[in-house]
Formats: sequence, C-alpha cells, structure tokens
Amino acid sequence: MEKRTFLKTGVFLGFAAAFSPLLEACKTKKGATSDAPVPSTPPMLPPPKMKRTEPFTLPALPYETGALEPHIDKMTMEIHHGKHHAAYVTNLNDAVKGTPYAEYTLEDIIARISTSDADKKIRNNGGGHWNHSFFWNQLTPGPASTPGGALLTAINAAYGSFDLFKETFSGASKGVFGSGWTWLCKDKDGKLFITTTPNQDNPLMLQVVKQTGTPLLGLDVWEHAYYLKYQNRRPEYITAFFNVINWKEVMLRYDK
Ligand code: MN
Repeated sequence: MEKRTFLKTGVFLGFAAAFSPLLEACKTKKGATSDAPVPSTPPMLPPPKMKRTEPFTLPALPYETGALEPHIDKMTMEIHHGKHHAAYVTNLNDAVKGTPYAEYTLEDIIARISTSDADKKIRNNGGGHWNHSFFWNQLTPGPASTPGGALLTAINAAYGSFDLFKETFSGASKGVFGSGWTWLCKDKDGKLFITTTPNQDNPLMLQVVKQTGTPLLGLDVWEHAYYLKYQNRRPEYITAFFNVINWKEVMLRYDK
C-alpha cells in the first residue's frame, strides 16, 4: 500500500471509529422516543423486493377450527379467523388503494409503515393480517411439547430454563394493558428477547416500535382471542396457549 493511500485509509477509519458511538447513540435515542415524528421513508431500507399484483387474501388455517380444543375452542377460532382476520384483509385491501403501498408486499408494508395518521389504517390492518397469519402457523393440536435444538440453547442462555422463559413470557402477556401482543424475538446476533406491542403493531415495524427484531412466537392477547371461553381470565388462556404451540415451527423460525 502506498503511503498516501495508507494515510487516507487511516484517516477514514479514525473518522468512522470516532463517529460510530455517536451513530449508536442516535439509534438508541430514536428507538427510545417512539412518540417523536419519524420520516415516512427510512434511509436504510432497500427498495421493495417484489411488486404485488394480487390482492391480499385470507390464508386457510393449517388445521380444523375445532382442532385446538379444549385449549382454544372452535367458535373462537371460527370468529377469530373467519371474521376478525378476514376483516383485516378486506380493510387492508381497501386502505392501500391509491397509496404508495398499493403494489407493496405485506412484508414491505410492515417494514415501512410509519406512525403518521395517513398510515394508521394500513398499519392497523396490515399488522392485523401479518400477525394473525403468523399466529395460526405456530399452533398445533396437542399434546403440549417443548422446544429443542439451537432454540432451546438460546432460551437457556437468555432465561436460565424453559420454565423460566415460560414464566417471563406469561408475565409479559398478563401485563399487556388493553389489546396487544407478546413476542419472543431474536436480535441480529441470535439472542432472544421478549417484547410487547399495542394493538396490531409488531417488532418488524421498524419505524413504529421501540424494540425491533425477528418474531419467533407471538401471542394475541386481544379479548377477541379468548373471551368466549375464558371471559376475563386471560391467565388461563395464556396457560392454554402453551399447550398448543408448534415448537417445530418456532425452531424453524429461529434457525432461519
Ligand atoms: Mn386477534
């Protein structure tokens, strides 16, 4: 390397090293102040991967509506999937018309959606569609199982044991005030964390939530998810949820 090039590189690296803590500090600050206005197009995002031509549709359940009995009852499943989720899909198709999101995939919408009033209907219904599609696919008829493999190793590293993880996740779910979700996520290093979101927000909404990550397991704690069978007894519903988790699916999500 020529001396001149070396000097330039050295100066650049010094510059980058000096500013990287500042950049980190900015990121943290942005994450901590979710009420602050955020730009509608985050500069770090690549252009949308795919153009969407078909409308959003309600995915079929991967099991019969009564398959999760007695933990989650048939009528709740019929209404939750056939009415609530279906409405999110219909409303999302309606909301994206004539907006910059009209031809975006659901994933691209979720990554870009902002906290602005203009985005509100798309945020709520896009989140509703994404969250519920994710929810159905991680459930399976019993008997209850537990995770293994790399996911279990990560759970043990983060929480000490599967039982302690379950306790932490259940506690977070009981603590959600009003309607929302609890999420087990992995960060970019594969480390696990638990977070909650209000309404239909989720950890993939980069511009909306405080803590972003890759969701592995999500629990819907809206009353519509449990009220017919459990009424106000959310803790019983949370216990029941742990009897129908498809850990094989959650492990696949972790390994991806
Ligand atoms: Mn729901």
